[in-house]
Amino acid sequence: MKRWWWFLVCMVALGLMLGGTQGNWQSLAGTPNLRRQNIQLPPAVHYPLPPSLAEIPRKGEDYFDNVQPVEVGYLLWTQFPVTVAIEPPQWDPNHVWQAAAAQAVAEWSAYLPLEIVDPSRPADIRLLSQRPTDQNKRRVRSAETTYELFVDSQGVLRHRCRVVVRPTQAPKFVLAALRHELGHALGIWGHSPLPTDALYFAQVADPPPISQRDVNTLRRVYEQPTRLGQRLPELTPHG
Ligand SMILES: [Zn+2]
Repeated sequence: MKRWWWFLVCMVALGLMLGGTQGNWQSLAGTPNLRRQNIQLPPAVHYPLPPSLAEIPRKGEDYFDNVQPVEVGYLLWTQFPVTVAIEPPQWDPNHVWQAAAAQAVAEWSAYLPLEIVDPSRPADIRLLSQRPTDQNKRRVRSAETTYELFVDSQGVLRHRCRVVVRPTQAPKFVLAALRHELGHALGIWGHSPLPTDALYFAQVADPPPISQRDVNTLRRVYEQPTRLGQRLPELTPHG
């Protein structure tokens, strides 16, 4: 049964982050709490659709209604390529996890420009695995995506994501977990109600590839406004 609950746990983590409670920000280690710091946010703007998404034929449905904006708007990337660092796992028999991570990145690359960078470098998205010996400890989740907001050296509001996926015995479930979590990290901040989508909220026996509905949803996310990628308003000095 163990393999079945990682999606449920993932959903809980996502739910916590969307909840607007104190737990919301506690799960984001090192994140400056913009509200508490009284930082004035830049206005939300629309960005042009990335060509790789724009050129895909518009057909069929989506589950965009299940995607949640966060306090800065939709969690979309505003600079491309999005850099992805794959941390070499400490425990990875036959390099199953690392191969699955590379494949998940390659699959989503059909829709958004992604670039795998050396894990010693900063990256927009960081993929990490945990050793299975952690499995019996408290507070351990099987798969989780979190984000943090920061202001870069140019004064621009940005975010970065951290994806943690536990290696399991069946490679197809490792790949499914990475594919699913990467979908969150790329902006689908919610779940599909259909088991034929990669972002379905529960695990299925035969994990599907990225579906047309997943892609349609991703495109709608990138059509939304966000405050990310915008310079913070200049602070007015007191007195
Ligand atoms: Zn999820």
